[in-house]
Amino acid sequence: MPLLPSGAPASGTVPPALDGHVLLQVKTTGPAPLGDVSPVDGGLVFCGRRAADNAAEALREDGFTGPVLIDPSAYERHVATPERPFVTGQGSLLAEDGLQEELERQRERKATVALTPTAFLKAGDRASLEAVAERASDLGGDDVLLALPLDMDWLRGSRHHDLIALLPRIALPKALILCAPRDPLSSMSAARNLREVISSAPGIGLLRSDLAALDAMVHGAGFAAVGDSASARHGPVPGGRGAPRPRRDPAVLFPRALSYHYGETLATAFEGATEVPRCHCAPCREWGAAHGTADGLRPLTSFTDSADRADAHRHNHAAWSMIWDYVMAAPDENEAARRWGLCCERALPTLSAANEAAGRPGNPLKPPPALRVWAASRGRSRRR
Ligand SMILES: [Zn+2]
Repeated sequence: MPLLPSGAPASGTVPPALDGHVLLQVKTTGPAPLGDVSPVDGGLVFCGRRAADNAAEALREDGFTGPVLIDPSAYERHVATPERPFVTGQGSLLAEDGLQEELERQRERKATVALTPTAFLKAGDRASLEAVAERASDLGGDDVLLALPLDMDWLRGSRHHDLIALLPRIALPKALILCAPRDPLSSMSAARNLREVISSAPGIGLLRSDLAALDAMVHGAGFAAVGDSASARHGPVPGGRGAPRPRRDPAVLFPRALSYHYGETLATAFEGATEVPRCHCAPCREWGAAHGTADGLRPLTSFTDSADRADAHRHNHAAWSMIWDYVMAAPDENEAARRWGLCCERALPTLSAANEAAGRPGNPLKPPPALRVWAASRGRSRRR
């Protein structure tokens, strides 16, 4: 698989080690399929309070040779102010915010590039955003990645125009992280506005995301990361307002429907149905062989318990990797965008058919609002 569609120009604002990569973002290492990640076109981003320890462990024990990022995740606990846009939580001898020392700590941990400890940027807080940009301009070296953890409300109304105006002026490689109590792309307008922002800053990254990472990649992003668990598919809001309670059943990617559904939701929906969606990804084939299923595949209704979590995460990673492999096997970037658009178009009728096959009232398998946006337009990559 090519790293980039042939003819796609590399952008000067993308760290070369990340260019064209879709990484796995991990908060809790236990159920994460670290051994399945490709060092060639994938990689790992560790986030949360244990990010540094988890990264060091993965590097030491598995000898992973692909890109590894350590997201200090300052935005999980701290809100940015114009005076204090970066927060390390540790004292510094050199500067009040300890920014350089935090970056150095990541380098010592063998991070591929060092990610800034940017605090949470409240929607519409242009002063803090500008302070981030200004302080970032002081940072030297070609191994620093500016993290921009944004309140999801930056994508509502016309606030995203401030991002579009400012982002291209920041010369440092940069990556967006969307923060919300739940899905940051819970409205079609947010998904549409995110595309506009990504397209306005070619080469930018989108970290800690879901399948929006793939949509971003065909609309100008230089690299992206898909979360292993729900808590790694978006950032939280400091203070934790409205965070959902953890569930026993894992979220399962329904590959042809390009959407995540809880294992119990899938099992209940198809209870008694004759047609149940089945998966042919490598981990699911392994499971099918071990359980002697007639077609060697695994039903998507079989991930109902916390004991199925690691299997579900392996399946999820394998499933989106298969989709991405198909998109990236395109001969050029326009064809890649077309392929992604076709996958999205096909997903909506797939979900309708699945609801029909399940025969439950209320159509329990809901399409994510972003999918309607991705399916509605086959945009061209603007990474030029
Ligand atoms: Zn599978």
